[in-house]
Amino acid sequence: MENIPIKMPNFEPGTVWVVGAGPGDPGLLSLLALHGIQNADVIVYDALVGEDIIRFARENAVLEYAGKRGGKPSPNQKDITDRLVVLARDKKRVLRLKGGDPFVFGRGAEECLRLAKENISFRIVPGITAGIGGLAYAGIPMTTRGTNSAVTFITGHNASGEVPDDINWKALADGAPALIFFMGMAHIGRIADQLKEAGRSATEPVAIICKATMPKQQVLISTLQNCAADVAASDLIPPALIVVGDIVNFREQLDWLTSG
Ligand code: SAH
Repeated sequence: MENIPIKMPNFEPGTVWVVGAGPGDPGLLSLLALHGIQNADVIVYDALVGEDIIRFARENAVLEYAGKRGGKPSPNQKDITDRLVVLARDKKRVLRLKGGDPFVFGRGAEECLRLAKENISFRIVPGITAGIGGLAYAGIPMTTRGTNSAVTFITGHNASGEVPDDINWKALADGAPALIFFMGMAHIGRIADQLKEAGRSATEPVAIICKATMPKQQVLISTLQNCAADVAASDLIPPALIVVGDIVNFREQLDWLTSG
């Protein structure tokens, strides 16, 4: 990969690249993300970024973990942004590596706002969000002409770990034919109940996609009425996406990963 025949921007010392690592499979990294990882002096990475991706770092790069691990409290967002500022001021090439896309439920905006405020140059390298890559690896199309003309990404989890209060379930039930919940596993029963109460059919198909694009990807197919019990009875391990809508039915024909 040394001679990528594409002109890549210089990773200047004293700048920060905020990079999306994609959902897990290293093959889903962009060339720009790989270039950044290979040239960074310091990589500050999150829990969702796997070893398979970190290993592209230079041999003498410093790797700093910024996620939750082993029951220890995670560094708070302020500590992480403070750290990025210190490293950049120290003239390092700083790579902030996040799972999926940095701007999709990834707090990338908060970090970039701080860098902007401190007058530190940064670049944002988008990644394939789990909400897109995960569906592709489960054989579930985001849209088909027959099922949905819109897709909605929703977080199932607010800053205090609860289902956000400001979700308009009625509007979602009426106007969002394909729903993709991030961080929803802990509250799947509540999510399913709210959608049913707001008018969605109890038999509507649901897919739970765990560890999407990783070697241990698991997909559970259920319905709105059964999904909470099915998850409770399963051995599914987060991270997981919850997909609600008729697009889920296509998996039967499009599951290229496990049926091939
Ligand atoms: N920025 C990330 C999302 C961060 S929020 C992105 O764009 O993908 C964390 C949530 O993302 C997880 O709780 C889960 O819902 C989802 N997620 C991330 N990676 C995943 C994966 N490999 N498989 C399934 N869900 C994933």
